[in-house]
Amino acid sequence: MSNDLDSIILKHALKNAFDYGKASPGNIAGKVIGEAPEAKADMKSLMKKISETAATVNSYSKEDLAREMDNFKYEAKVEKEKTISLPEAVDGKVVTRFPPEPNGFPHIGHAKAAWLDYEAARIYNGKFIMRFDDTNPEKEKQEYVDAILYWLKWLGIPTGEPIFASDFMPQIIGYADKLVESGDAYVCQCAPETAKQLRFDGKECPCRQNPVGKNTELWSQLKGGSLARGAASLRIKADMQSQNTAMRDPSIFRSVTAPHYRQGGKYKAWPLYDFQAPILDSLNGVTHAMRTKEYELRDELYYYIISKLGLQRPLLVEFSRLSIKNAPISKRALAPLIAENKVMGWDDPRLPTLAGLCRRGIKPGAIKSFVLSFGISKVESEPGWDALLNENRKIIEPVARHFYFVPKPVLLVIKGAPKTRVSMPMHPRDKGLGTREIDAHEEFYIPGEDAEKIAIGETARLKGHCNFRVLSKSDSGIIAEYGGFDTLPPLKIQWAAKESAVKCDVLKPLDLFNGDAFNPASLETISGFAEGQAAGLAKTEPVQFERFGYCAFDGNDGATARFIFISQ
Ligand code: ATP
Ligand code: MG
Repeated sequence: MSNDLDSIILKHALKNAFDYGKASPGNIAGKVIGEAPEAKADMKSLMKKISETAATVNSYSKEDLAREMDNFKYEAKVEKEKTISLPEAVDGKVVTRFPPEPNGFPHIGHAKAAWLDYEAARIYNGKFIMRFDDTNPEKEKQEYVDAILYWLKWLGIPTGEPIFASDFMPQIIGYADKLVESGDAYVCQCAPETAKQLRFDGKECPCRQNPVGKNTELWSQLKGGSLARGAASLRIKADMQSQNTAMRDPSIFRSVTAPHYRQGGKYKAWPLYDFQAPILDSLNGVTHAMRTKEYELRDELYYYIISKLGLQRPLLVEFSRLSIKNAPISKRALAPLIAENKVMGWDDPRLPTLAGLCRRGIKPGAIKSFVLSFGISKVESEPGWDALLNENRKIIEPVARHFYFVPKPVLLVIKGAPKTRVSMPMHPRDKGLGTREIDAHEEFYIPGEDAEKIAIGETARLKGHCNFRVLSKSDSGIIAEYGGFDTLPPLKIQWAAKESAVKCDVLKPLDLFNGDAFNPASLETISGFAEGQAAGLAKTEPVQFERFGYCAFDGNDGATARFIFISQ
């Protein structure tokens, strides 16, 4: 057998043992034959060789395996893309749009919708439109338009030149005019409570019988702002007896006199979502209008408006709304937390906003894989954060530099320890990430939890540095002596040298909600010391605090470095 084949076997045996804890000859054989098909010619000697190699690598420690693997190049695993399939899709002709309302910061639910819209268009060689559904002046702001564009770009979604529903107001009003003129819409002046009750009972109100002339006049007044909200609305005639209550003459325009962030005071009446959405989708040439499942009952109304207005018909495609356990994914639930200062802002690391996730060290690639893993499916599920954090770990593990963080520190004095400079790798496998140098002498901090575990007379090890034997313990710390190198201490502890340690707080996001209520204890602070170099990183840079977890740098107020806990 050639050396080449030996080396291919070793390469796959190492990886198999590393990934699964134990190398299995059957799995290795598959990989080897994939790379060197000619080896199949002599299966008997191939299997013998593989078994021998598997037995050898199975005696290696994980560190040995990692070190040996450095000698080989492994193909990056290409994750099979979950393909999106749209009904009635013609290659090159698909048009989708992502239509957020600029009334808050985007969250991970928007990431799901935006990625599905974008990927569907991309897979069918079609077009993706970024559209702001900004037809409710009371809640919308330029600040939110900017935030949505910023965070979609961060996600990796090319938004192109966005369009704005409010720029289409002349057309939308034109369609309403047409409905009034043809007698298909009327101005209803019933008190809101009365209108609600009649709709519930499936009964028509007297306004429905008004002649076109009267409706035209009232509609003019509504557009002019002289009929206040609550005093009147424009309703489309549909079917007051329909089983589907969405079809019982819904309102399509109402008075809103607040100035619009983009259009100013030009319009005093604004369309409702159910009227605006089908018109815009059609005018924009959208072929596949994707939206979340809770709109399903309104599909009938969407198509009714399209056919009433004689518009080109988009196809509605529904998918499930993303919800995560104990984390409300909706602007409606999040906005009050910010307004009432219950959290630090839209970028609070506890929030499912993209700003919050970024601050928490979650990478855009992890969000993309996570949200696309659900595909265009109506199946409801309520995942926790784990799947997202797992995706994220795969991305940050190879690049996160390693440091030591000492939570709940206890002073350790090692008598007789030499004054020296300790050099440790920034990453156990990637030497390209360099080393960190720490001046050390006799005084150290170690985690309180570890300090409790070591008894007087026992030996432990400061990772990457030296062993020590405990002489005495007291409230002010541990006194130890340098030595005990003849043993392999079971406890290997991370540490910070007292001289150069920096104060460090790690903020740990916990569940934002307990059921329906905000959890005021949702952000835990863990205080301690970190090695000096960890205090000056770039914002959101992920590090691995050994024996503690991955954390994202969040800032430094001069005296204390701040990190956000990402995951184990
Ligand atoms: P919110 O309650 O956060 O305001 P919304 O649906 O009113 O939600 P929009 O800005 O209107 O927010 O949403 C834009 C698009 O994003 C819509 O197509 C909507 O269906 C989708 N979307 C919003 N939240 C989610 C979610 N949690 N999961 C999947 N898609 C979502
Ligand atoms: Mg909304």
